[in-house]
Amino acid sequence: MSDYKGIFVVGEIENGSLSSLTRELLGGARRLADTMQDEVGLFLVAKEPGNAGQEGITLGADKVYVSTDPALLDMNPDAYVFVVTHLCSQIKPLLCLIGQTDLGRDLAPRVAARLEAGLCMDCIHVDVNEERNGFIQTRPAYGGKALSVIASTNGRPQVNTVRSKAMEPLLPQDQRTGETIAVQESPDSSSIRIRILEREAATSGGIKLEDAKVIVAGGGGIGGPEGFDMIKDLARRIGGEVGATRVPVDENWVPLSMEIGQTGKIVNPELYIAIGISGAAQHITGCLNSKTIVSINKDPDANIFKISDIGLVGDYRDVLPVLIEKFQER
Ligand SMILES: Cc1cc2nc3c(=O)[nH]c(=O)nc-3n(C[C@H](O)[C@H](O)[C@H](O)COP(=O)(O)OP(=O)(O)OC[C@H]3O[C@@H](n4cnc5c(N)ncnc54)[C@H](O)[C@@H]3O)c2cc1C
Repeated sequence: MSDYKGIFVVGEIENGSLSSLTRELLGGARRLADTMQDEVGLFLVAKEPGNAGQEGITLGADKVYVSTDPALLDMNPDAYVFVVTHLCSQIKPLLCLIGQTDLGRDLAPRVAARLEAGLCMDCIHVDVNEERNGFIQTRPAYGGKALSVIASTNGRPQVNTVRSKAMEPLLPQDQRTGETIAVQESPDSSSIRIRILEREAATSGGIKLEDAKVIVAGGGGIGGPEGFDMIKDLARRIGGEVGATRVPVDENWVPLSMEIGQTGKIVNPELYIAIGISGAAQHITGCLNSKTIVSINKDPDANIFKISDIGLVGDYRDVLPVLIEKFQER
């Protein structure tokens, strides 16, 4: 293991506190570090270093590295690549865990390439190997139809992105102590080629799809934006969020933030209702871990039925009004 030590988590802040995925990564990192009798470091970008740092410590971090650099606060990926690469070169962690988020997907390969490190994207499980000299990663392959188990012994560090709900957060332990370290390193202007011109808030306004317990998703079979009004109505009545396949996004019926799948969000709700969705591998990979999948499709041979717990064959225009009425009665 040479002079590489510990686990380094790249965290993200949402509404002033650690994102749910960051909490999960910290829990996973703490369990691995305990097995290896090692330390957990957490990197955060925060306006209020004290609060964020303390939260990270109660959830498993030993050291929290906090940057308040404006370019990082602005979520500029180039700035993140620069600072995370720099910190990894200095701290030399054995394993670097990054969330499989928009930022993480961009950051991880670029950091790994600069460090000439090992890289495994979209992990659903990470373990240390028996010899304690490397890691074993599990990730979906072939659009979720298979799982690949990847052993890495040479990556220093091993850089992994991890899906939401793949690791368990710890319960906060207020008595835990740790150290908060201010990150002084700022990206130099030559390393920043991306300019953020404008930001647009995602339109959903409700719970994040990744955290939703119930999702009602529509596909190409919905036929247009007005069809999504019915989907939103059902979602509202059952306390769910609205998702979509790539077709409604490409057609501009719904915003990109609603896309679920390989290039969209990975979700794990208790209930996933798929309406007018064919069940393409690229979509299924994003919702396969839902506890119960209910599908409505007019084609009895639609692929989505193969992964569904309950399948309703019919035109959604006939089925949904009945469902909506039933929930109205309750
Ligand atoms: C590299 C790559 C990445 C991709 N990433 C993603 C991704 O992240 N997410 C994603 O979703 N897709 C992704 N795709 C696209 C994916 O391959 C499929 O094209 C897409 O998922 C199909 O969406 P769909 O099932 O909604 O539409 P369609 O294939 O058009 O299927 C519509 C379904 O609706 C049914 N239907 C039609 N009318 C009705 C009705 N009135 N009532 C009930 N059912 C009806 C039809 O029988 C059909 O099964 C990706 C593709 C590529 C190549």
